Amino acid sequence: MQQIVDEIAEEMMNLEDKGEVAHYIPQLAKIDPNQFAISVALTNGEIYQAGCAAKLFSIQSISKVFTLTLALGKLGDSIWHRVGREPSGDPFNSIVQLEHEQGKPRNPFINAGAITIADLIMQGHQPKEVLAEIIQFMRYIADDDSIAIDEKVAKSELETGARNASLAYFMSSFGHFENPVEEVLGTYFHHCSIAMNSTQLAKAGLFLANNGVNPITGYTVVSAQRAKRINALMLTCGHYDGSGEFAFRVGLPGKSGVGGGILAVAPGNASIGVWSPGLDAIGNSKLGTKALELLAYKTGWSVFGK
Ligand code: GLN
Repeated sequence: MQQIVDEIAEEMMNLEDKGEVAHYIPQLAKIDPNQFAISVALTNGEIYQAGCAAKLFSIQSISKVFTLTLALGKLGDSIWHRVGREPSGDPFNSIVQLEHEQGKPRNPFINAGAITIADLIMQGHQPKEVLAEIIQFMRYIADDDSIAIDEKVAKSELETGARNASLAYFMSSFGHFENPVEEVLGTYFHHCSIAMNSTQLAKAGLFLANNGVNPITGYTVVSAQRAKRINALMLTCGHYDGSGEFAFRVGLPGKSGVGGGILAVAPGNASIGVWSPGLDAIGNSKLGTKALELLAYKTGWSVFGK
């Protein structure tokens, strides 16, 4: 496995076209695209890494997997009254379907869906309390107390968040929101701004590869059925309008973020964190996707067969 990740890291650093960093969040626009990291956490507890696997990056929309997990833990299947489970086929920040579907987002991974999940997990609590809970959860599942929010990124998102504010106010016009829109947005921007490295990310996703139990700590995070369902949503919706292409090329449940990270799950085998800040036109990490495609090919881990 070490040889495989070393080969992948080397191959990625030699590629010319590394994609474009996310320009619409000023704090992310400053990041050097010539960076790559890969961490593979096996379900037997072994961890393999290559590239700049200790470097922190903004996990952005990957956080939506963890807020969904928290919402299911708090509220169970009742969340599905507020958010659907179908791929949207539209960009992550699209507003078009919301009018036809009366403010109910297609799935929890598009921005509108994740903003709805933020409203659900707040349950009348102050954003600070909810954020403390999210961070505590991240530290628990990754078994790492150093995980924190990058306040500079959160501020940068807030200042340039007109599109997300539009989505939130539009949804609230249907009378769905239980908390003040500004507070829900604050919670959303902050959880998107959690900073992690690829190894912490791989460890945080390990419960999804191991029937809900983190094999390193022994903690049961969710039931096996819930882990399976979260993986299904990652496979069908985790890359927005690029989800079909990701399934075709990589064949694993995965969740991307505009910070350039991707969490991928090889059920029964491993949880994988990759990072490279350059994105493709849809907003998914260009080299991250390529690296996962290679990894799935070399290991035979695709859920669709070898
Ligand atoms: N915080 C980002 C946004 O709301 C998350 C988007 C993403 O990672 N795809 O635009």
